Amino acid sequence: ADERFDAIVVGAGPAGTAAAYTMAKGGLKVALIERGEFPGAKNIFGGVLYRKQLEDLLPEFWKEAPLERTIVEQRLWLLGEDSAVTFGHRNSKFVDPPNCWTGLRVKFDQWFASKAEQAGAIPIYETVVTELLRENGRVVGVRTDREDGDLRANVVVIADGVNSLLGKSLGVHREWRPDEVSLAVKEVIALPKQTIQDRFNVEGNEGVTIEIVGHMFGMAGLGFLYTNQETLSLGVGVMVSDLRKKRIKPYEVLEALKRHPMVARLIEGGEVKEYSGHLIPEGGLNSMPPLAGDGWMICGDAAQMVNAVHREGTNLAVTSGRLAGETAISAHAKGDFSSATLGEYTKAVRGSFIYQDLKKYRGVHGLLAAGESEKLFDQLPQALNDAAYEMMLVDGVPKKVKQKAAVGHLREVAGGNMGLLRLALKGWRAMN
Ligand code: FAD
Repeated sequence: ADERFDAIVVGAGPAGTAAAYTMAKGGLKVALIERGEFPGAKNIFGGVLYRKQLEDLLPEFWKEAPLERTIVEQRLWLLGEDSAVTFGHRNSKFVDPPNCWTGLRVKFDQWFASKAEQAGAIPIYETVVTELLRENGRVVGVRTDREDGDLRANVVVIADGVNSLLGKSLGVHREWRPDEVSLAVKEVIALPKQTIQDRFNVEGNEGVTIEIVGHMFGMAGLGFLYTNQETLSLGVGVMVSDLRKKRIKPYEVLEALKRHPMVARLIEGGEVKEYSGHLIPEGGLNSMPPLAGDGWMICGDAAQMVNAVHREGTNLAVTSGRLAGETAISAHAKGDFSSATLGEYTKAVRGSFIYQDLKKYRGVHGLLAAGESEKLFDQLPQALNDAAYEMMLVDGVPKKVKQKAAVGHLREVAGGNMGLLRLALKGWRAMN
């Protein structure tokens, strides 16, 4: 009871574990608290893990980490009713050095946390932090659901994920609005290794990711289909505000996607092994709360650090955790854990790719929340499919006539010439 640490980390996801690893390696006495039976026990993501930010912590980690496939090809599908316009990029340069891998959190988080433990972090698992302990406005520790479960520390790193009860209790953010989060559901579907390799045109450890736009009942959402060793990860994430508006359940969207001919033949014969759901932060920079105060810092999903356009989250989480850890180490050296000193973390985030990337896409949230979902995620992908069909169909109609009809249709969907221009401008601004 009332045990004292230099630092307490709440949550052993990528953000919390990166913070705990950094601080333990820097010689701090760190507690890593996780509610799951073990780190990753209940965590899910798409999911793609990126090399760069993890390598900053653990050089050549991929030689021992439990990863699924090295991604050599990333595809983008714009679905029509029973068709698709497809893009993609395959490059053998993505193998050495690897760019990213597919992974399963159950294995990965556990492995990553074991690295923090080896560095000296003290694991406290199967333990829920119920509140922050505060004295004179400073955070001085945490209360857990264990008997005599108060733990004290100079600094608490809040990395409790998207729901962030602790962030809410601090008052740095409120309950996220339905347009600041999407709800994702995912299935893990088992198929023989050889079948996966044949269907996706890969060999050995190579893998493919497919991001899917369209066929989402006119809601702002994305689908994904990723290759693991002997399973596929198939899921959809849809903005909660749109799900409410349309009164559609996310699993209905997933079921519809599974029936689409492009997807159906890739998953055919597969056996569903897992079904899970999770929220994804979608607010971006506009929703990012203050990142530090007296005795605390907040990282990863709890601080809305997700770049939804590029489906990056784990890497932002890892870097924010590392930066919080480094800040705690210098605060420890100074013996000062005030908001002025911990504010260095905010500066470090602002100087990193996290802030730069979220800034670049800060307009996307507004675009999605502006009631254009039907147009952007349904009518436009369908119109593109119709246009592609017409242009490729050889039926004696002159191409010029076809092109005029296709452009006319796109224009109509976008709301006339001005509508098309406005949409293009809005899209450009949102992405820049
Ligand atoms: P989390 O991973 O959520 O970890 C938080 C941890 O805190 C959990 O272990 C939880 O159990 C624990 N916890 C929470 N509250 C408490 C408490 N009170 N006491 C103790 N422990 C607590 N990112 C990518 O990089 N690539 C992808 O392909 C990708 N795809 C995704 C697909 C889906 C469907 C989803 C849902 C997310 C996806 N993301 C992806 C985003 C990524 O998963 C997150 O950005 C990332 O996991 C954030 O890490 P985190 O450590 O901040 O939070």
